[in-house]
Amino acid sequence: MSQAAATAADTQTPDETSGATDLFSKFDPLIAEREALMATGVRDPFAIVMDEVKSPTLAVIKGKETILLGTYNYMGMTFDPDVIAAGKKALDEFGAGTTGSRVLNGTYQGHKEVEDALKEFYGTDHAMVFSTGYQANLGVISTLAGKGDYVILDADSHASIYDGCFLGNAEIVRFRHNSVEDLDKRLGRLPVDAQKLVVLEGVYSMLGDIAPLPEMVAAIRKHKNCMILVDEAHGMGFFGPNGRGVYEEQGVEKDIDFVVGTFSKSVGTVGGFCVSNHPKFDVMRLVCRPYVFTASLPPSVVATAATSIRKLMHAQDKRAHLWENSRRLHGGLKAMGFKLGTDTPQSAIIAVILNDQAQAVAIWQALLELGLYVNMARPPATPTGTFLLRCSLCAEHSSDQVTQILGMFEEAGKATGAIA
Ligand code: PMP
Repeated sequence: MSQAAATAADTQTPDETSGATDLFSKFDPLIAEREALMATGVRDPFAIVMDEVKSPTLAVIKGKETILLGTYNYMGMTFDPDVIAAGKKALDEFGAGTTGSRVLNGTYQGHKEVEDALKEFYGTDHAMVFSTGYQANLGVISTLAGKGDYVILDADSHASIYDGCFLGNAEIVRFRHNSVEDLDKRLGRLPVDAQKLVVLEGVYSMLGDIAPLPEMVAAIRKHKNCMILVDEAHGMGFFGPNGRGVYEEQGVEKDIDFVVGTFSKSVGTVGGFCVSNHPKFDVMRLVCRPYVFTASLPPSVVATAATSIRKLMHAQDKRAHLWENSRRLHGGLKAMGFKLGTDTPQSAIIAVILNDQAQAVAIWQALLELGLYVNMARPPATPTGTFLLRCSLCAEHSSDQVTQILGMFEEAGKATGAIA
């Protein structure tokens, strides 16, 4: 018996050895796979603890000062002094939490202020804030598309988009990742009179590639009864002249009915939102279950979000530096011989594609030991069969840090055989 198999067998519960099963039995293969991996002596990639966080780009992990390259903290707003001051003030003045739903006792002045900041940032008539981005997709998609309606989505869509379809009980139609042709073909097969919601993402977070939105909009416009929602979770803050996202950069603002986003990336805190110009949008506040039946965000969180969003409106210098970081890291890794998710740098996410799980874990661990934290991702979160290291850059990474990051990748890549 291999060491890995022995470890899995040693930890069987009495029920399992007696052949009985329970509701957890379906996870046995996953538990065994994880134990086999741990038995090889690697650190658990999904149990990293930040003991101390010194800045948006630096933390202490197991006593070692570590550069953070896997945080989605694109604009580095987590430690912005104005953002922190706004949070502290709201904590003092409004308390630690609202203890209630937005439609009952949970709407404070700060919730209105962050919705006003969003309306200004996006130039829209309406903005609705949710407790997370996950809940924003869950709520908006399930409320818009119900039984008998169709949600047409990219096969690589985020889990919250799929879950929104399940909650609403809509028919799901998937098209091949970023394929305009497949989107058009699948729309053409649906009943003309049926109501349809097409859901796209500006940036796809696993490979860091962006959607060809103008071409997609043109294909969608050939079909009747389609509304369009774009998730700009990874585009907000640094795409487009106002940082609204890829849909702004690509000039399709007028064609998009709903934009969903999150506060957990460029904004630097937690929360989610949807903005729209649809005249009936506000009825969502009465009928959207993940908005109605959950507590609203704490006053300190909405205050930090509002301050951050207003600062992001004027963050041209940060945007320019983030793009410079992205170009340098992409170019440097490519020159070393790493296989990347995109041929050219398309966003602040750079994915390093590895051969298999063993190689991905080996290089992830080697980087961590050198003092660099990146995300390791594997199926089902990644496109079929892909194991990758996802690097997400921050506008606060100094060019010196990017040089250090490249040096660590070279050392770890050579030591693990990922590059020659
Ligand atoms: N949409 C996309 C595309 C995402 O990547 C994520 C989170 N990674 C979300 C929505 C959910 O955001 P949140 O973390 O605010 O729940």
